[in-house]
Amino acid sequence: MKLCRFQPLEFVWDSFVGVVPTEQQQPRYGLVRDDVVTQIAGDLFGMWYTASDHHWPLEMVRLLPPVTPSKIVCVGRNYAEHASELGNTVPKEPLIFLKPPSSVIGPEEPILLPPQSSRVDHEGEIAVVIGQTCKGLSPQDDFSSYVLGYTCLNDVTARDIQKSDPQWTRGKGFDTFCPLGPYIETELDVAGATVSTFVNGQQRQHAPATEMIFSIGAILSWITQVMTLVPGDVVATGTPAGVGPLLAGDVVEIAVSGVGTLRNPVVAREP
Ligand code: ZN
Repeated sequence: MKLCRFQPLEFVWDSFVGVVPTEQQQPRYGLVRDDVVTQIAGDLFGMWYTASDHHWPLEMVRLLPPVTPSKIVCVGRNYAEHASELGNTVPKEPLIFLKPPSSVIGPEEPILLPPQSSRVDHEGEIAVVIGQTCKGLSPQDDFSSYVLGYTCLNDVTARDIQKSDPQWTRGKGFDTFCPLGPYIETELDVAGATVSTFVNGQQRQHAPATEMIFSIGAILSWITQVMTLVPGDVVATGTPAGVGPLLAGDVVEIAVSGVGTLRNPVVAREP
């Protein structure tokens, strides 16, 4: 099942350019099937149903980030080849850090290159969307009942600032540095999934989830021994080798097999 968050597009007449879309409507959740979005009533994380008379063709909606997380917990250096490409050793324990909820953007929204950085990289990742409150999981616990599904995430990073600061908050935390979406796939066999990154249509990253150093169960246990994860929280599972710079004018796509493709243009932010 593919779930999304969206606003229906409404069209208005503009005397200069003709018919243009507006996005004045409240965000809502939907189920995506055959390029049709059907609105969900109820609680995405509890009981919900679809009202079949509330549906739109996919091109008549604006997709939003599929959830509004209270926190985004990321794992650094979770693929051996990526750790070594940046001159780091493979960690003995998961290395976690946070991205702020204010960094989240949806599909097609621009990634803004901040004037403070001269090197902003893409990091394509498989993201776990939490469905049930979880706390103190053990690595042996069956984590799947706590997971709503999986989506694509771009852990955009100002690499120069990440290297110059002892903490990663600034380098990882700029507004627009966490593109998320387009859908949450609830039935993904994540162990069999792959993650790929394309810049202007050229493949830059590609790896199967089986190359992760720490499994999703191990990561969720490590995190929830520290902090409670609540419905809508997002856990980014690390990026494979092939990270590289984004330049103004680029289009970056993160594809997770079985989920979809998250596409964002890259734009220079005004100083
Ligand atoms: Zn990352």
